Amino acid sequence: MWDADGNEYIDYIQGMGPNLFGHAPEFVSQQVAEDMRNGYIFAAQFERELEVAEMAAAAIPIEDCTVRFAGSGTEIVQLVLRLARGWTGKSKFIRFEGHYHGWMDSVNHSVHPPIDEAGDVDAPTPVGESAGMDPGAAAQAIPCQWNDIDRLEDAFERHRGEVAAVIMEPINANTNCIMPEPGYLEAAKELAHEHGALIIFDEVITGFRVAYGGAQEFLGITPDLATYAKSIAAGFPIAMLAGRRDIMDMLGSGEVYHGGSFNSNVMSIAAAHATLTHIKLQGDTFYADLNRRGERLIDGLHQVGMETETEIHVQVLGSVFGISFNRSGDVIRNYRDHATKCDDVRYAQFASEMMREGVRLSSNGRVHMSSAHTEEQIETTIEAARRALSRM
Ligand code: PMP
Repeated sequence: MWDADGNEYIDYIQGMGPNLFGHAPEFVSQQVAEDMRNGYIFAAQFERELEVAEMAAAAIPIEDCTVRFAGSGTEIVQLVLRLARGWTGKSKFIRFEGHYHGWMDSVNHSVHPPIDEAGDVDAPTPVGESAGMDPGAAAQAIPCQWNDIDRLEDAFERHRGEVAAVIMEPINANTNCIMPEPGYLEAAKELAHEHGALIIFDEVITGFRVAYGGAQEFLGITPDLATYAKSIAAGFPIAMLAGRRDIMDMLGSGEVYHGGSFNSNVMSIAAAHATLTHIKLQGDTFYADLNRRGERLIDGLHQVGMETETEIHVQVLGSVFGISFNRSGDVIRNYRDHATKCDDVRYAQFASEMMREGVRLSSNGRVHMSSAHTEEQIETTIEAARRALSRM
C-alpha cells in the first residue's frame, strides 16, 4: 500500500480479512470486468450465481447443505438469527463474550465489554457496545463465557425452553484468535441439540480463509447453519448463509422472509467465482502456502520477542492470527483472559512503531495473511518488529 504522501507499507490488515490474494488480484478484476458487461443487478437468479452457489455448497462440510447470498456479514447474521427463531419458535440466543457478529442491535452486546461492567462470569450482563442501541434487544441476548462447557450448560438451565440458537465464532478470531479447546465444540453442539436449539458457526472470518471448507473442515465439526462473508469474494461485498436443507427450506418457501436489493449482484458473484475457481485450481497447495508464510511470521515474531525480552505473544493459525502483549505468558482461552492478561495499550504502541517501520497492523491485533505477501516481505516485517520492539 502507498499513502497519500507516497510512503510504502506492507499491509497485514488486508481489508480486515477479505483480501485473501492481496489488493486487486488481476484474475478477480478481469472476471468482474467481463461479467459486468451483461448488467449489474437483475433481481432474478442467473447462471453465474448458480455456479457459485454450487461450488460454495460443495466446499462446505454441512451435509446436504444449501446456500443463500446477502450483502454483508451483519445482514447474514440477521438472517441466520431470524431463521433460527423461525425454525425453533423460540426467541433468545446464547452468544459469547469476545465474539463479534456485526453491528446490529441484536448482537452488538458484550463483544469487548469493560470487565467492571460485564457482571459475574457465571451470568454475564449484556453490555451494549454503542450509544443508540435498542434497549429491547438486550433482553434476547444471553452472553456467556466461551470455551467453558459448564457455563454454557448453566445458561441453558437458566433459560430453559427459551433458546433458539447458540451463535459463535468457531475460532474466536475477534479476540486474539482463540482456538476452541478439544471437545468443546462437540459438547456445545450436543448440548444445544438436547435443548432443542440450533448451533450456528459464524465463519465470516474463518470461511475460505483457514481452509476451503473453513473452520468446519479445519476442526472437523459441522454446525446446523453457518455464515460467511469476507474471504469468499476477495474484497467485493457479499455474504452467504449455508445450512441444513430442511431448515433452509423455510427461506425458499418464504415462511422466513429475506430481502435485499443488492444480494447476488453480478460484480460480487463474479469475484466469488474467480476466488473459488482460483483456490480450486491450486488444490491443497493454496492453504499450505498461506499457512507456511504465516507460520514463518509467527515464529519470527516470537523469536524477536525473546531476543528483545518483550512479552509479545502470537496465537493460532498461519492464515489468520492475533498479536497481543500478554504479561502472564499464559494461553488466552476466552475474552476475560484477554481483558485481564493482555496489555492493549502496549499493543497499540507496537502497531504505531510498526507503522513507522512501514508495516500496517490492525488496531485489534489480528493479522491477515494473503497469498500476495512474499517471503522477502515477511523477513522485512520480522526485522521491522525487532527494531520496533527494541524501541519499546
Ligand atoms: N461476523 C464476524 C465473525 C465478523 O468478524 C464480522 C466483521 N468483522 C461480521 C460478522 C460482520 O460483518 P460485516 O462487517 O460485513 O457486516
